Amino acid sequence: DLSGRVALVTGSTSGIGLAVARRLARSGATLVLNGLADAAAADALCAEFRDVYGVPVRFQPCDLRKPAEIEAMIAELNDAYGALDILVNNAGIQHVSQIEAFPVEKWDDMIAVNLSASFHTIRTALPAMRARNWGRIVNMASISGMRGRAGKTGYNATKHGLIGLTKSVALETAKTTITCNAICPGWVHTPLVQKQIDALAERDGLDNAAATDRLLGLRQPSGKFVTLEQIAGLCEFLCSPDADEVRGVAWAMDGGTTAA
Ligand code: NAD
Repeated sequence: DLSGRVALVTGSTSGIGLAVARRLARSGATLVLNGLADAAAADALCAEFRDVYGVPVRFQPCDLRKPAEIEAMIAELNDAYGALDILVNNAGIQHVSQIEAFPVEKWDDMIAVNLSASFHTIRTALPAMRARNWGRIVNMASISGMRGRAGKTGYNATKHGLIGLTKSVALETAKTTITCNAICPGWVHTPLVQKQIDALAERDGLDNAAATDRLLGLRQPSGKFVTLEQIAGLCEFLCSPDADEVRGVAWAMDGGTTAA
């Protein structure tokens, strides 16, 4: 039961972040949503959360590429709530390209959103969390933080970095009731992955179903997507009292990929 807890989920206007936000709201948490949605879409999403889950919810616009915006966001949330109880660093972007052709601005954006944003949210949220003496930090990494992959230098670098950040923050908070962990999903069917299916379909002249099978066959032994609900369930567990001593883990949920 997360009633009374305040949760910020970054990148929660779509995909995994939205599923995590829904799950935490269903458990009673007060929700702060974030992402690149326009004001009308954000309002509609907040209204839906209030209707369906009956919890307080707000949308906090913030471009996570910009440290000053992150600082302002966390300061505003600390003012509003005293502290964040749950911080889910979920927002992430992908770009697939061989390193020689990798656009430098995409690399910079990826480092900013997938890695540096978590550094900034954690360093600015932690003091108030410590003062309240309870907290959960969950970083959405990837099995790309545990394995390399041709074409994914940027993504691999940021996700390996995020797991390293997770472990060190877990150690810095190990004597407290604050935990910091990473979730490492395999393929989950979201807009971020559909773009990779579309690229495969175009490259190999396949229809959507065949391209999807090929993508899953690339490295997910189950041959199935991990579902949004399953990832959300793992995040909810990490926020529960049973997970009090889960510290600094990089927890794969990947249909067997990292077992191979
Ligand atoms: P998605 O594209 O569906 O959602 C990404 C979210 O991040 C959106 O809400 C978007 O608005 C937000 N976002 C992007 N750039 C932003 C910025 N500059 N500022 C603020 N918000 C920004 O992606 P998804 O598949 O749900 O991925 C969510 C997380 O899970 C990412 O970190 C991704 O790397 C990770 N992940 C996804 C998969 C998968 O198979 N889908 C696998 C492993 C890890």
